[in-house]
Amino acid sequence: MQHPILVTGGAGFLGSHLCDRLIEQGHEVICLDSFFTGRRENIAHLVGHPRFEVIRHDIVLPITLDVSRIYNLACPASPVAYQHNPIKTIKTSTVGVVNVLGLAKRCGARFLQASTSEVYGDPEVHPQTEDYWGNVNPLGPRSCYDEGKRVAESLCVNYANSHGVETRLIRIFNTYGPRMDPNDGRVISNFIMQALRGEPITIYGDGSQTRSFCYVDDLLAGMMALMDHDDNELGPVNIGNPVERTMLELAEAVIEVTASNSKIEHHPLPKDDPTRRCPNIDKAKANLGWEPKVELTAGLEKTVTYYRGQLAKS
Ligand code: NAD
Ligand code: UDP
Repeated sequence: MQHPILVTGGAGFLGSHLCDRLIEQGHEVICLDSFFTGRRENIAHLVGHPRFEVIRHDIVLPITLDVSRIYNLACPASPVAYQHNPIKTIKTSTVGVVNVLGLAKRCGARFLQASTSEVYGDPEVHPQTEDYWGNVNPLGPRSCYDEGKRVAESLCVNYANSHGVETRLIRIFNTYGPRMDPNDGRVISNFIMQALRGEPITIYGDGSQTRSFCYVDDLLAGMMALMDHDDNELGPVNIGNPVERTMLELAEAVIEVTASNSKIEHHPLPKDDPTRRCPNIDKAKANLGWEPKVELTAGLEKTVTYYRGQLAKS
């Protein structure tokens, strides 16, 4: 009998969409989550499904399960959330990843680690290619997340080399869409909620810093293609949308999509905020046949519809 697929962080933004896709494909799914940033409402529609199970558990503690594949997404992703308890964030990406890799080793399960563009820090190479080693401040406020994810990558490489665990590393660039926590402090959720409430749009710094925004459906297609890819030597793969925008451009796009009267307000730039970020996705194109399809305006429209629903409920 085929064992279930484990999704850690399965009640979060990306994890809950992944659970949906896996259930749609006919798999049995275990969603494991500590509910630190995850929300029950993200998976409420799956509860009671005969092939879906939820376990409340923190990956910093070991767990024994029989599973066939593991998507390790457990880790807060918003800077506000991951800096709330930085030591816990480090433990999640180190002790937690050791625990989940140990589980993969025991079960012979293929393991995908959700890594991040943050491993490139404030990049000196632009757009970022997978062979760039990054420019991370190991002592700064973002290091609990960036350095944790870098250790997690090293753990995956070493569990593969020393124990033959089949590991996959996805470097996720800023991704957005429905189910992103409206209060999580990330730029898309902040701007849309502010625009819908008619509050000022808070741009940190002068707004010239860039990010490249990938819609959740595109991201998941890339993530699942990477998990299904059979080359154990592929190494890390960037998955993101290569269309780069300044935060000022993003604010203007959100104001347009929401038809809001909100004005732009500038706030101090957080320390070590990367000045630019854009993926080179040649490796994903060549090896996975993947590229993003959803344009920013179309993705924002779907996300705004979701947030309007959230506001109507509150
Ligand atoms: P999210 O905060 O919505 O989801 C993370 C989930 O992990 C939450 O449900 C949370 O409760 C759970 N979690 C956190 N610590 C845990 C622990 N110790 N044990 C068990 N569960 C725990 O964030 P997301 O945007 O869905 O991100 C998912 C993954 O993708 C994260 O690993 C994140 O680092 C990575 N990532 C996301 C983005 C993005 O733009 N969304 C970009 C780069 C990387
Ligand atoms: N940002 C902003 N206003 C906000 C929230 C974020 O201008 O209300 C900026 C932030 O300084 C950064 C960019 O938007 O330059 C992306 O921030 P986010 O927290 O979404 O992700 P990350 O910095 O991890 O890419």
